[in-house]
Amino acid sequence: MYLVKTPRVIQKLFPNFHWKIAGAEAPVIYFTFDDGPIPQVTPWVLEQLAAYDAKATFFCVGNNARRYPELMTATLAAGHSVGNHTMRHLDGWKSENVPYFHDVRHCALQVKSSLFRPPYGRLKPSQAQFLQRHYEIVMWDVLSGDFDAELTPEDCFQNVVRNAESGSIVVFHDSLKAEDKLRDILPRLLAHYAALGYRFEALTPALLQRPAAVALPQLLTV
Ligand SMILES: [Zn+2]
Repeated sequence: MYLVKTPRVIQKLFPNFHWKIAGAEAPVIYFTFDDGPIPQVTPWVLEQLAAYDAKATFFCVGNNARRYPELMTATLAAGHSVGNHTMRHLDGWKSENVPYFHDVRHCALQVKSSLFRPPYGRLKPSQAQFLQRHYEIVMWDVLSGDFDAELTPEDCFQNVVRNAESGSIVVFHDSLKAEDKLRDILPRLLAHYAALGYRFEALTPALLQRPAAVALPQLLTV
């Protein structure tokens, strides 16, 4: 079971994780793509994004990054961000800490980034505590559900448009499992949000380390 929209109560339990980005002046949305890069899907995603001058963030599995370095180069050259998604897509809840951290470090040799997203969104508190010292941990506000064989493309499209708002971090997958649904929904979602005047931006360490948006008005009133 999973939740399409991450409830606020869960977001508040892990305040150091990034669930969405507050404080943007104009409407902006953060598309993220997990589990690539793979030649069957990732180049197509890059083309779709380029058509809208959209930037996004790719949480890469180290084994894929090692196998397809040219896709890593193309992703970065197009102005997108990349993040660590472990070497072998490990489930933190089912992993001992030392091998898990070793796997993250192994991935870091392929994916140079201070962003990390745990596969399945699963980390033990002790893993989170350690990794937070080295990484910005990026979760999400909205899951498209593109990985879910039970959902139609229309279900996935509606998951996003019903739940995303300005500042939302939305999850897709550049994987074979999600490919059919992604090929249907990504062009439609890009057109939908572009028509609403949204910008599509990549997550960067600078953006994530920015102090909370409330700090600025408070300072200005002093
Ligand atoms: Zn994943």
